[in-house]
Amino acid sequence: MQELMINGLLVIVIGMAAVLLLMGQRKDLGMRKKQKRMLYRILAATVLLLILQLAPAEWFERVDSWLPGAGYWVHLGLYLIDYLIIGYDILLKAGKGIRNGQIFDECFLMAIATVGAVVLALYERSGDYTEAIAVMLFYQIGEWFQSYAVGKSRRNISELMDIRPDYANVERDGKLERVDPDEVAIGSVIVIQPGEKVPIDGTVIEGVSSLNTSALTGESLPRDIQAGDEITSGCINMTGVLKVRTTKEFGESTVSKILDLVENASSRKSRSENFISKFAKVYTPAVCIAALTLAVFPPLVRMIGLGLDAEWGVWLYRALTFLVISCPCALVISIPLSFFAGIGGASKAGILVKGSNYLETLSKTKIVVFDKTGTLTQGVFEVDGIHHNEMEHARLIEYAALAESASSHPISKSLQRAYGREIDRSRVTDIQEISGNGVIARVDGVETAAGNDKLMERLKVPYINCHQPGTIIHMAIDGAYAGHIVISDRIKPHAKEAVAALKAAGVQKTVMLTGDTRKVADHVADALGIDQVYSGLLPADKVEKVEEMLAEKSGRGKLAFVGDGINDAPVLSRADIGIAMGAMGSDAAIEAADVVLMDDDPMKISKAIQISRKCLGIVYQNIVFAIGIKLICLLLGALGIANMWLAIFADVGVMILAVLNAIRALFVRKL
Ligand code: ADP
Ligand code: MG
Repeated sequence: MQELMINGLLVIVIGMAAVLLLMGQRKDLGMRKKQKRMLYRILAATVLLLILQLAPAEWFERVDSWLPGAGYWVHLGLYLIDYLIIGYDILLKAGKGIRNGQIFDECFLMAIATVGAVVLALYERSGDYTEAIAVMLFYQIGEWFQSYAVGKSRRNISELMDIRPDYANVERDGKLERVDPDEVAIGSVIVIQPGEKVPIDGTVIEGVSSLNTSALTGESLPRDIQAGDEITSGCINMTGVLKVRTTKEFGESTVSKILDLVENASSRKSRSENFISKFAKVYTPAVCIAALTLAVFPPLVRMIGLGLDAEWGVWLYRALTFLVISCPCALVISIPLSFFAGIGGASKAGILVKGSNYLETLSKTKIVVFDKTGTLTQGVFEVDGIHHNEMEHARLIEYAALAESASSHPISKSLQRAYGREIDRSRVTDIQEISGNGVIARVDGVETAAGNDKLMERLKVPYINCHQPGTIIHMAIDGAYAGHIVISDRIKPHAKEAVAALKAAGVQKTVMLTGDTRKVADHVADALGIDQVYSGLLPADKVEKVEEMLAEKSGRGKLAFVGDGINDAPVLSRADIGIAMGAMGSDAAIEAADVVLMDDDPMKISKAIQISRKCLGIVYQNIVFAIGIKLICLLLGALGIANMWLAIFADVGVMILAVLNAIRALFVRKL
């Protein structure tokens, strides 16, 4: 009966391997050379095993009749050849492990268990080597599926994101030429036709179109763009032809950065993954000692204590089964795969997570600290009023815009926009930006300062406070007060819902830090329902505040800081987890942060937390499931109820279920 089942199983394996090999000829399946080679090995070993299983005993007897005693050796030799075909690399790896002092890994377990089974068969002269080969065979099949699934999901993630551009169109002598995006210099003009991907970041100089940004941001509505707009690589141009002047090299463009992040994400290990490596260090030797005890102790007790037959063979077999069952493959495979799938799922939603450790921290977020400008507000200021000025309004704005010409602060960009004309940079010298204060520069040779009250105090220029709500930019020209510009920012459309969603997701406290004035800060915090506000902070004060909160917070909850990297990059790296606004944020922010929100939508913060929780949930399910089944099988094995076959099935089964469960992390519900 068991014979029949085994043979049936072998036939199924042969069929599957053959079908996979035939399908593997197709390129789109993305099977690697190594995987194909392994399939051939599996096929060859299974066919040979089936032949040996079915071979009638007379064949070997006939060999005996030619050369007495040779039949036994031919039989053994053929099985050994089969064993080596399927298992030689495992034996080699186990040997290498021993030489490098890293003895206890799964290869070692497999090698010991199968060599043991062969030795046992020799000792008992049973001639049954099938089990040893089958253990190797199914272990290799499991490994094959794992390597295919991991490779496939890696590729799927890149494919799902589908953002790597293959070429850029450059206009030369009136003709379009396709070139490698790597070869396009900064400042070149590229042409993007409808249906093509934007290959490099740049500014639109001609054309109107709408962009599909879903691969980057998860946002399904198209974005309308026209001349003057900045566009990021990785989006798809949908309707019109665009001429774009590139502002970055390909390697520095959004698309390259994202691909780098995603590809390197899994190299930053999470605590759970480290737990597994530590676990394996204790687990494997423990299992080996247990197996050894099982092989030696009961027979000795039987023999010496009870005066019975020792039954060495029975106990050796149980010990070997125990070893096979104990192999922690399902665990080892499914945990990194779960994290990888979680990171992939997040990036599909426009959230880049730089490593599995951050996914883990994110899931424990209890305090969320926000920066104001550019994070909760749009960072696009409108001029609301100009007061107490000695010169014309337009002149004051002109001086402000010129002085601000080198700053990347949202305020500076807004003032330049209000000025509305091309900035003649040759008129500006000695630019000095004082973060959290403002800028000082020489415009047409005259010292011009634009900034808040702190800047005026610093320059000892008496200033006039403003009654109008808004952010105030005081101006001092040639050491004298020249009036102030009142500007105001708008709160981001989803900011209020985002704060509420965080509360709903179990975040206990929300805090806002800003360099802006108390009045503006309180207004924004009230409108959004934020618990605590600190205003008038310099960049260093922000770090200090976050450090205070880190010291105060109780238990294992984590603190997340969300910012745009302008005057808050140090805070991004100081917090337990730094979340940066990717579209508007500075490069420094994207570097310093652990999580990047591609479309700057604060709603994505709670989304990221939910994704991380789901992913961690899957990781824990797999750990508990795999270890649970393992323990049950180990117990059954020790009692002699489970044989090696059950062990193999349990292992392969657990592995497949764990991998399928891991893949679940890839799917993220839409907002
Ligand atoms: P936030 O914390 O809201 O992001 P920042 O720390 O970037 O704000 O800036 C704090 C304050 O410093 C601003 O509200 C503004 O008054 C002043 N400031 C900073 N940079 C500039 C600048 N380039 N021009 C004028 N004012 C500035
Ligand atoms: Mg800011």
